[in-house]
Amino acid sequence: MSSSCSSFKQNAAVAIHDPKLQGALGKLGDGLQARRAAAVGQLPEFDALRNDAQRIKRQVMADLDCYLEQFESKVLEQGGQVHWASTADDARNAVLDICQKVGAKTVTKGKSMVTEELELNNFLADNGIEPVETDLGEYILQLRKEAPSHIVVPAVHLQQDDIAKTFVKSHAQLDPSRDLTEPERLVGEAREALRERFFAADVGITGANYMVAETGSTVIVTNEGNGDLTQTLPKVHVVVTTIERVIPTLEDLSTFLRLLPRSATGQEATAYVTLSSGPKREDDWHGPQEFHVVILDGGRSELLGSENQDVLNCIRCGACMNHCPVYGAVGGHAYGWVYPGPIGSALTPALIGVEKSSALPNASTFCGRCVEVCPVKIPLTDIMRRWRVEEQTKKLTSPFQRAGLSAWAWLATRPGLYQALTGLTAWGMKVVGRRRGGLTRLPFASGWTQYRNFPTPEGKTFHAQMKQKAKTKANLGVRYE
Ligand code: SF4
Repeated sequence: MSSSCSSFKQNAAVAIHDPKLQGALGKLGDGLQARRAAAVGQLPEFDALRNDAQRIKRQVMADLDCYLEQFESKVLEQGGQVHWASTADDARNAVLDICQKVGAKTVTKGKSMVTEELELNNFLADNGIEPVETDLGEYILQLRKEAPSHIVVPAVHLQQDDIAKTFVKSHAQLDPSRDLTEPERLVGEAREALRERFFAADVGITGANYMVAETGSTVIVTNEGNGDLTQTLPKVHVVVTTIERVIPTLEDLSTFLRLLPRSATGQEATAYVTLSSGPKREDDWHGPQEFHVVILDGGRSELLGSENQDVLNCIRCGACMNHCPVYGAVGGHAYGWVYPGPIGSALTPALIGVEKSSALPNASTFCGRCVEVCPVKIPLTDIMRRWRVEEQTKKLTSPFQRAGLSAWAWLATRPGLYQALTGLTAWGMKVVGRRRGGLTRLPFASGWTQYRNFPTPEGKTFHAQMKQKAKTKANLGVRYE
């Protein structure tokens, strides 16, 4: 997928001044954050589960090849097929090949971020196959020709009236003056529009939240039931997923099923958890005649053994973006590629190169809320910091910024000089700030003062306060003796 990550600053400036988007993003704090907090609060062992999940994921990454081979052999045993794809091109062609072999004209699709990564809809359409998104959010976005702005709630950037207008325009055969003011009416209308598409589809494409190595099953965790219709009604089911989604056992699956919905939407469990293990058997009532799993690497294996490997542990719950002040201010489209928010800032440089995406690791305040809520304890801020170092090392930053950081590094390793200079600077800022009633302009901080005054420093510097505290402690220690 083409990216506009390097335009993050410009995208963010537009997003901040978009009142509709700002209204829609307000849902994150009141809705998803609050619901997660309530659900987590009711499960005392939540943190222990996070440790278990991190351990399982690290165990998988240490022996990823073995688990993938075990998964493949189980799929084959059950009559399915596995297609290995090193690149996005390989994955797209594998899906197209399967569709063309059965003469597919229409495919239905469940929600899948990997297929966004592949730009699969455009590719299929260019090859004469009509893709139909069946997840409600994705369906709305397909009608609007927009990309998802969140990995769990793809249309979170829209308000209800935006969706109503889209339906009036797209469902042109219906009465344009119909009442679409209630969410239930919108859902009902989408359901009607999609029903016949489910029955007409030749191939159903879904993603996979997990691949279970011991059983050869793919797992989808959903709330709408569209995924089940997508994978059981057509004669062919294609799962498009990535190498890191494999987990060893069903027992491990139960750990993730307790973490994922609580972290994502604050639910104890989602409405549907569906395991697919091969094509329809003789005594099955329903099911596809063919079952294919397309497994994409797409640059992920290069992370194995690296310092940033933990980013592969992500279970795509979206909690990091729901709690990120930057995502909450600018939304997902500003990030310019498939995965927004903190996980996007940590993962995107690995998948499309830091050269194209260095703006993203810098789109963080490093407040650490993403790390606190991540159900698999990915050190997202550490990973982003390493991408910033790589950006610096590869000289992707401006010469001015590099010189500034080098000067800072030189100064920071000379504590005496550092404290003297920062003390002097703080004193100067205090004098000027008091005289002018605030700091309206500062060298090296014009990005800040362009929009708001810099606060006038008050009291003693941090180092002076630390020295004072140490002195007081020493004095008290003498008195106690
Ligand atoms: S990084 Fe963690 S919090 Fe963010 S989507 Fe992945 S699992 Fe969820």
